Amino acid sequence: MGEHVVLFNEDGSRTDGRGLDELRPIRIKVGVLSNAQGSAYIEQGKNKILAAVYGPKEALPKHISLPDRCILRCRYHMAPFSTTERKSPAPSRREIELSMVLRNALEPLVMTSLFPRTVIDIFIEVLQADGGTRCAGLTAAVLALADAGIPLRGLAAACAVGKADGKVIVDLNDLEDKYGEADMPIAYNPTLDGITLLQMDGIMSKEEVEQALSLAITATQKMHKMQVDALRERFSVQRRET
Ligand code: ADP
Repeated sequence: MGEHVVLFNEDGSRTDGRGLDELRPIRIKVGVLSNAQGSAYIEQGKNKILAAVYGPKEALPKHISLPDRCILRCRYHMAPFSTTERKSPAPSRREIELSMVLRNALEPLVMTSLFPRTVIDIFIEVLQADGGTRCAGLTAAVLALADAGIPLRGLAAACAVGKADGKVIVDLNDLEDKYGEADMPIAYNPTLDGITLLQMDGIMSKEEVEQALSLAITATQKMHKMQVDALRERFSVQRRET
């Protein structure tokens, strides 16, 4: 913020040519790693993110286990080569916080009471970052959980909405995230009609927040369809192979 960067072309399109309510191109593949129990890979614009899941497995050391449900552990991490300047591989404060934020957003989706005294480990590895990695990471992590066969209360997809040069926009890229006026990451589960992640950085009016929220719900519903297609592709391929 502070420094002014032009975020719209003369024809009103965004710097990457998109319309205000347009998502970046998205590619999703489920079941990309053979060693993890569940995995998924997502490309959203220039973001490239892998998610992997292990569990439910016995929670060790025992004192971390809960008698009535499974616990979730989540690690969000950006690879040292994920940004234009080498990033330190050590977990930063931001990564530690995002790991907690994503864990809290994923927990309501998992039927944890079916697996007492166990733990599920979720790893989100950002290979290339271009704004909105927490959201794309969550979209992939939900699919990795589904791929591991873990019972879920629906699939959530996530997308950031926000404001740049006075306009409400969907799926902010790195430039819009850094130089726009507001950024609001949202995860939405259409099955429960529920929001499991909502954060906000910057300032928007009440009307703008309402507009952004409705744009986020439309965008995440589109992403939800892509998630279902990716799961269908995964399991129809597996059927053919066996
Ligand atoms: P999100 O990726 O969920 O939007 P932030 O808003 O914190 O999370 O980050 C926005 C973008 O800033 C990231 O997607 C990435 O492109 C860039 N970024 C984050 N951390 C670093 C870092 N340590 N070095 C370089 N770029 C970074």
